[in-house]
Amino acid sequence: MIRKRLKIGVDIDNVILDEISSLKYIYDSKKESLPINEIYALHNVWDSIEEYELKLKKWHNSEKFLNLKPIQGSKAGLAKLSKNHDIYLITARSLFLKDRTLKNLDIHFKGYYKDVHFTGYDNDKIRSKAEVCNNLNINIFIDDAVENVIEVSSLGIETLIFDAPWNQDMKKIKNTKRVYSWNEIVRYINGEL
Ligand SMILES: [Mg+2]
Repeated sequence: MIRKRLKIGVDIDNVILDEISSLKYIYDSKKESLPINEIYALHNVWDSIEEYELKLKKWHNSEKFLNLKPIQGSKAGLAKLSKNHDIYLITARSLFLKDRTLKNLDIHFKGYYKDVHFTGYDNDKIRSKAEVCNNLNINIFIDDAVENVIEVSSLGIETLIFDAPWNQDMKKIKNTKRVYSWNEIVRYINGEL
């Protein structure tokens, strides 16, 4: 059974592009074996905010950042979903990363999404993902960050939390479902589960 045509909001980092695997290298010299939930909170790894910002800038200019690889199954997943639904990518990346982001997306996901929305801090006004989902009338939203999932689902929007080591603490809340793979996402949205 195919559901009606839906507007699907999809996060980018660690939902369709694998940032974590590549990000590891910038703190490898700092600490040898960080648990992955600490890796995600990079700002906790560095001694000062200045050091963090410097590393982040270096990261955003690196070849690795420009060439992030897709999360397993995300390319085939978006290809399938985009046949019957409208995909909107919604990222907390800042607008100054727009060109770099679009280049990376084009390599793997060209034609699969309608638009990309940046909510990061150098926009005229910082927007929340919930605000963007609301404005776009998103029906289903997929993200790996707990705070986004809580905020978006509180608006009554169906939300899928993409399972990751850093979101294990999130309790089951209304309008949310934990998903473990892109295969599962596609089957769920297309009403096959
Ligand atoms: Mg993410």
